[in-house]
Amino acid sequence: MIELTGRVAVITGASRGLGAAMASHFLTRGLNVAACARTRPDYDDSEHSLSRSVDVTNASAVDAFCDEVAGHFGHIDLWINNAGLLAPIGPLRDNDPAEFARHIEVNVLGVFHGSGAYIRHIHAHGGEGVLINISSGAARSAYAGWSAYCSGKAAVDRMSEAIALEEGTHGVRVHSVAPGVIDTDMQSLIRASTPEQFPRVDKFLKLKETDSFSAPDLVAERLLDLAFDPEHYKDDVLVTLPPQSR
Ligand code: NAP
Repeated sequence: MIELTGRVAVITGASRGLGAAMASHFLTRGLNVAACARTRPDYDDSEHSLSRSVDVTNASAVDAFCDEVAGHFGHIDLWINNAGLLAPIGPLRDNDPAEFARHIEVNVLGVFHGSGAYIRHIHAHGGEGVLINISSGAARSAYAGWSAYCSGKAAVDRMSEAIALEEGTHGVRVHSVAPGVIDTDMQSLIRASTPEQFPRVDKFLKLKETDSFSAPDLVAERLLDLAFDPEHYKDDVLVTLPPQSR
């Protein structure tokens, strides 16, 4: 394993689920971790951790968080835009426009705000950095009942590819990563869907029955490989992690 002590990582959407698991794993690997979500992640501020309540749809709050992290830890080596939501679920014809708009605000504009803050940090302070946007298989294959989620994650993929073209010569590597299926609150929400809302709900019920999920700490370790292992420096922008079973 690569030595990562003292590296600095930011994770959005770290109050629960994959984000919280990544934050814990990164701390055990010796990184300094700044975590945020609307619900303040459950870490005391210390030499190695910082947590704040930040809504990623609030551009100035995300910028202020980035500045505070840089003031606390210095250069930020890795920024992970992980915050996201799934709703609305169901055929587009039944989706509430305001709920669809809120979805795009979090899953697309939230990534825009985090990416912008981080890239400006690298430009202002120099050095190199890695930006990882958490995407989904739903960015790359459509699912009936998930038009908002598919649209938002596809936008994250294209946004990441555009950033790679813009920032590749300015020290920022970017990846948009489909992490596999991890048993979080988002999966509980998927399993609670009716077949009318989400015709492929059976597939996800079966994953639960057979406990066929990726282990979040192994997903976290793969993301560290992607960010810090020189063998991965030339990897494509779009990454799909294979299942990370124990
Ligand atoms: P989750 O358990 O529902 O957690 C979502 C996280 O995002 C929470 O910490 C939540 O905290 C935060 N969040 C939501 N809205 C936010 C906002 N406006 N501002 C700041 N934080 C916000 O979901 P998860 O399964 O861990 O998903 C994490 C990421 O992985 C998402 O981008 C998801 O699309 C992606 N993903 C998950 C899976 C999977 O199988 N679980 C598969 C593919 C991709 P608060 O509510 O406190 O703000």
